[in-house]
Amino acid sequence: KIKVTDLYKQYGDNHVLKGINLEVKDNEVVVVIGPSGSGKSTLLRSLNKLEEPTSGSIVVHGEDIAKKNANIDKIREQIGMVFQHFNLFHNLDVGKNIMLAPVELGKLNKQDAEKQAKKLLKVVGLENKFNASVDSLSGGQQQRIAIARALAMNPDIMLFDEPTSALDPEMVGDVLQVMKDLAKEGMTMVVVTHEMGFAKEVADRVVFVDEGKIMEQGTPDDIFNHPKNPRLKEFLSKIL
Ligand code: ATP
Ligand code: MG
Repeated sequence: KIKVTDLYKQYGDNHVLKGINLEVKDNEVVVVIGPSGSGKSTLLRSLNKLEEPTSGSIVVHGEDIAKKNANIDKIREQIGMVFQHFNLFHNLDVGKNIMLAPVELGKLNKQDAEKQAKKLLKVVGLENKFNASVDSLSGGQQQRIAIARALAMNPDIMLFDEPTSALDPEMVGDVLQVMKDLAKEGMTMVVVTHEMGFAKEVADRVVFVDEGKIMEQGTPDDIFNHPKNPRLKEFLSKIL
């Protein structure tokens, strides 16, 4: 479904991604871990064309989105993304936040978008919040709305960049639960997270990125119980 080949990205003379090769299959949940500044966000943002790669290819549904003339609108329709800071529109209430993209892009009329928004609110456990203002919600609730908003475009791939890092601890579980449900329903997901419990429970594959390279990848059991790369061992000893 996604095939990244020899992906390089540099900002000026800062080489951030140095030859990433990564394949994500249909229905697969890939968790990306690694130290701060190793290039995890840059990798994820490249998959959604929020970054222009310096070189390499990123084939999604058979199309190379690393190419300059790739169709951004189509890519964003197929790939939803959720960020650490939820970036909801504070001037719009919850329902409108979820309805905005499908209506603006002409995918759904208002009536259908509203129906869909209410359905998605149920999915994320916030069915009574359609008319709520964004500011009246907790961080965890806002993040679940952000997930619903991403799902409103009916993507078949979801990218999550540290979706729970900005949340108070008691909010983390609800957001992870929504992600677990999505995974269970077969959503193809790439998740950058420090939640190792989630990685162990949900990931089909864990990818360790350090200094812009994939240093090791494998099943959660491989990575957490039988790490080989010394830098991975060091990383795990700090966070576990
Ligand atoms: P963290 O765990 O802290 O989120 P990360 O693994 O996501 O880290 P990135 O955000 O991908 O790391 O950043 C990798 C490197 O790229 C850093 O050195 C960062 O300063 C640099 N970088 C990222 N975005 C930009 C940008 N827009 N312009 C210049 N440099 C950037
Ligand atoms: Mg990051």
